[in-house]
Amino acid sequence: MNREEILREIGLTPLWKARAGPTGATPAMAEAAEAAALGAAGEQAPPMRSAAVPSTAPPVVARAERAPVQATAGRVAPISVDPERVSHIARMDWPELKQAVAGCAACGLAAGRKNTVFGVGDEKADWMIIGEAPGAEEDARGEPFVGQAGRLLDAMLAALEMRREANIYIANVLKCRPPGNRNPEALEVAQCSPHLLRQVALIQPRLIILMGRFAAQTLLGTDASIASMRGRLHQYQGTPAIVTYHPAYLLRNLPDKYKAWQDLLFARSTYRRLLSEAAAAQ
Ligand code: URA
Repeated sequence: MNREEILREIGLTPLWKARAGPTGATPAMAEAAEAAALGAAGEQAPPMRSAAVPSTAPPVVARAERAPVQATAGRVAPISVDPERVSHIARMDWPELKQAVAGCAACGLAAGRKNTVFGVGDEKADWMIIGEAPGAEEDARGEPFVGQAGRLLDAMLAALEMRREANIYIANVLKCRPPGNRNPEALEVAQCSPHLLRQVALIQPRLIILMGRFAAQTLLGTDASIASMRGRLHQYQGTPAIVTYHPAYLLRNLPDKYKAWQDLLFARSTYRRLLSEAAAAQ
């Protein structure tokens, strides 16, 4: 994809051109956005706060392992699932985990699927991108983010000069498609997310990108809005995590594409900082 195509796909070009007229954005602003989109000015920090927040437990709890937790404002109420199944999944290696997902019938979604959608990419990746659930195209092909939202994701990654196969692993909270692409239900998330959490544990990424509400809820255990979580470095069990909008949402909300782009620039600068800190520590 060339520069023009990437910008068009991400939605920055029409967005900034449109604003340059009536709303008074200057060509310089449009240029800055374009430069940022292409990575040339990518190191100019977006308006981000950087305070780390404490690690939070995922909302899935094995019944016998933790006392019932009362739902409080901002926290996701945990759903109890079979603790033995959860701890069994938490000890699986890659082949066992893939087999477990392929044969999973722990919730009603199994009955309607064409394929499970395990995840794709580099199993030793530094970056892990987590979405919500497969849609129709993902269900048909057994691969995450291959539909329209996936094409937008690929374009945004391309603008960062990254590809899904290289140093990135992509997975979803749910491995099966919810009918009609409805939102995941709490029990489905509770039954399925141990697979995702095991993927995170096996990959040990340096950085996690949480795309959308369900990914953020599942790993950070909060129902806070995406808007309120953006721009800060969160932690999932000690791994830095960045929250951003889901690509499917961005397809419907063009102005927020620019915010998502800022989030990816924040992710890249965070990753570079993590790498230099790791190098300095050696
Ligand atoms: N949306 C997601 O969250 N994941 C996919 O794989 C596709 C669309």
